[in-house]
Amino acid sequence: MRIELGEVETVASEINQMKLRMMKNIYVTQPFLPPLEEMIPFMKRIWENRVLTNCGPFHQELESTLARYLGVTHISLFANATIGLITALQALRIKGEVITTPYSFVATSHSLLWNGIKPVFVDIDPDTFNLDPSKIEAAITPDTSAIMPVHCYGHPCDVHAIQRVADRYNLRVIYDAAHAFGVSDQDGSILQHGDLSILSFHATKVFNTFEGGAIVSGSSGLKRHIDDLKNFGIADEVAVVAPGINGKMSEFNAALGLLQLEYIDEVIACRKSIDQRYREGFAGVKGIRCHHVDKDAYTPNYAYFPVLVGPEYGISRDELYMKLKEHGVYCRRYFYPLISDYPMYRILPSSSHSNLPVAVEVAQQILCLPIYPGLDMSAVEKIIDLIRECSWQPGVLAAEAR
Ligand SMILES: *Cc1c(COP(=O)(O)O)cnc(C)c1O
Repeated sequence: MRIELGEVETVASEINQMKLRMMKNIYVTQPFLPPLEEMIPFMKRIWENRVLTNCGPFHQELESTLARYLGVTHISLFANATIGLITALQALRIKGEVITTPYSFVATSHSLLWNGIKPVFVDIDPDTFNLDPSKIEAAITPDTSAIMPVHCYGHPCDVHAIQRVADRYNLRVIYDAAHAFGVSDQDGSILQHGDLSILSFHATKVFNTFEGGAIVSGSSGLKRHIDDLKNFGIADEVAVVAPGINGKMSEFNAALGLLQLEYIDEVIACRKSIDQRYREGFAGVKGIRCHHVDKDAYTPNYAYFPVLVGPEYGISRDELYMKLKEHGVYCRRYFYPLISDYPMYRILPSSSHSNLPVAVEVAQQILCLPIYPGLDMSAVEKIIDLIRECSWQPGVLAAEAR
């Protein structure tokens, strides 16, 4: 078979167009990386020292620098947030039942199962998407030992209301603060509330060390215990004081963290400008509700840009998700499904949809839009246009006709 030159050209141009389409795909996030050449001196020092892990010099430096940056006193670095959550529960010897939110990433509840703890799901607040403090009390039983809320999308929980319930029933509070890097309220860092807070430095988070995490604790004694637990429970050369785990962060990740920290303010500022543009773009678009941010109450980190696609919008959330995908815009439906709907959780009595009406509705309507430093403003405009196009809003249609 002979192939004509014309055909080859056609195929070549189709491949080129395909490449172009692929290049133009926009994903919900893209990790920030500092310039590679700035990482080399850090790596040189690791190669010279030959200290690769076990609380080396970069590990120590990142702990103190982060504590200063975040405005907290005690911080323990971890290999990731999931091991951090598991260790936090061990550190406080949590047992029995823990009240938590179904509206989160699975790791929140998985950390409970890994400790043989029964999760008890409580519904979320319709405005903040965080655990609803007014519904906690009804879920407390004699077996309840702690509350594990999540600062969802980096928006602070009602920390004072949660603490009041915890104090009344003598419960511990462990915050999954995986989204809440750098968020502060009137009291300072949001990470100071509760007994412990766990951060994630995973690639998809606001501040990343490729993989990584940390536990923020309130006393040097607790920090020491956590540091032992993450190192097999070894307290000194000869003493193993607890059945610990290996949760240590390596020197490479710690060094990267130090470099990333130099760019974090810039990263958050970029996110902020995208957040602002989305909010302007969706103002008055019927059926699209942006997540409310109370800027007087706290300083956000713009970790995500979630919108609710309501019944008044032209098409359903899933139809909008597919439509955006067809245009190369890959949003994420998180958190959907709810944690309580996964097979290992849906057998629990608290997982019934009648117990979680708000979470069920939010999970049906939620869509997280792309937001990350380096996301082009033209891409943001494209996403806004695509979403406005599908709205029934007569004002929008009239404006477009003009
Ligand atoms: C990312 C995330 C985790 C897990 O963090 P890793 O560092 O990947 O283990 C836990 N909880 C929430 C809410 C998260 O978003």
